Amino acid sequence: MKDRFNREINYLRISVTDKCNYNCLYCKPDNDSSYQEKEMLTDNEMLAIITAASHMGVTKIRITGGEPLMRKGLIELIAKINDIQGINEIVMTTNASLLFSQIERLKEAGLSRVNISLDSLDPIKFKYITNGGNLSDVLNSIDKLLKLEMTPVKINVVLMKGFNDNEILDFINLTKDKAIIVRFIELMPIGDHDFSFKKHYLSNEEILKQCPSLIALNENNQETAKYYQLPNSKGKVGFISAVSQHFCASCNRIRITSDGKVKTCLHENKEYDLLDCIRNKNGSIEDYLKECVNQKPKSHKINETDFEKVKRNMYKIGG
Ligand code: SAM
Repeated sequence: MKDRFNREINYLRISVTDKCNYNCLYCKPDNDSSYQEKEMLTDNEMLAIITAASHMGVTKIRITGGEPLMRKGLIELIAKINDIQGINEIVMTTNASLLFSQIERLKEAGLSRVNISLDSLDPIKFKYITNGGNLSDVLNSIDKLLKLEMTPVKINVVLMKGFNDNEILDFINLTKDKAIIVRFIELMPIGDHDFSFKKHYLSNEEILKQCPSLIALNENNQETAKYYQLPNSKGKVGFISAVSQHFCASCNRIRITSDGKVKTCLHENKEYDLLDCIRNKNGSIEDYLKECVNQKPKSHKINETDFEKVKRNMYKIGG
């Protein structure tokens, strides 16, 4: 389906839980509580939403969270999503803490690949930023994904000034010997917490300046990232500049939160209550989603004077 600005909407990101076993400093303040179980979408409700979305032309589903692997029965849910006609790609964003032992079963269920969030290669700093995470769980999962050819394996890194910006080259060097894609994602002003965007934001342009050996790849892809490579390396380096050089003109996605709200733009407070539509039988899911797509704004307003930061924390959206 096309929106008002002629963008083809074919990508749905669905958060399957708002629970997360990490408390990343910039994402989930640890005093924040989760929703009640009854406020969350059930498996059947998610399947009904994805079926309706597939009728509108959605072909790609991203499973996210919270930490998606904390949802009970996730593998069975993925297998059922995989059976929905028209859905030809199911991917997941995860912190990889619980991934290693489940990779084979996830693949069998129909998951094509995963994006892994990883903000430090220093085990102590990693533990600090995640509030207890174990770096080797993540690195072992990356190796296993490569071995099982669930590729490309994408590593998403949020670089923050004065925090992990001394690790830029370490991350880039990961791509020398491994066929992975390391993507730097700009810190975004989002959520109701004390982590200072102003203090820690670092533009991708500044990061790129520190890496003169990266060669730009002229790839004609539809992705949000611009890609580069070190000479003779197996992997690639991507830059996702959601703040400094937004890609709203080619935005093809909508988001559903685990409590059943539709977000048509990550950086807008406006949400649409799909859960209410489903539970109170206020019309068809497909008609409701179409109405939402029709309201999708042209672009975010982060760099405009009347910008209002989104209050919902990222772990309750899914990234
Ligand atoms: N738990 C999963 C994970 O860690 O990938 C999925 C949910 S997590 C909210 C998704 C992504 O959002 C992570 O890559 C995280 O780094 C990113 N994120 C959270 N807050 C952010 C912010 N303010 N700016 C940029 N990315 C953010």
